Amino acid sequence: MVTRICLSCPNSFTVTGHYHKYCKLCAIARIQKGAVAATLKSRAKNKSRYNVYMREYQRKHNRTQERIKYATNHWELGLFNSARKSARARNLEFNLKLSDIVIPLQCPYLKVSLTRIRG
Ligand SMILES: [Zn+2]
Repeated sequence: MVTRICLSCPNSFTVTGHYHKYCKLCAIARIQKGAVAATLKSRAKNKSRYNVYMREYQRKHNRTQERIKYATNHWELGLFNSARKSARARNLEFNLKLSDIVIPLQCPYLKVSLTRIRG
């Protein structure tokens, strides 16, 4: 959860996941004003050019390796997210915090160091 300040009004808002520039009210106002529609219209008009651009952009900004590295270094986050998703799917209350998940370096009983290798 990140707190940001809206680009068109002084309100701050919290976001999770995707990048947002505007608060919800301003985003809706922009859609109604046609600012977003103009972008979508332009994209549809120049579809092949847009596709070429996006392919090139994604090739340049390929972050797969970074994501894998991040997931490997943030094991707790993966466990936390999957637990939260599971709770949401089962309609259960979820009140864990990321700090509640502590993964020890060693198995407390066998004194073997823990790795992510299965088997
Ligand atoms: Zn706003």
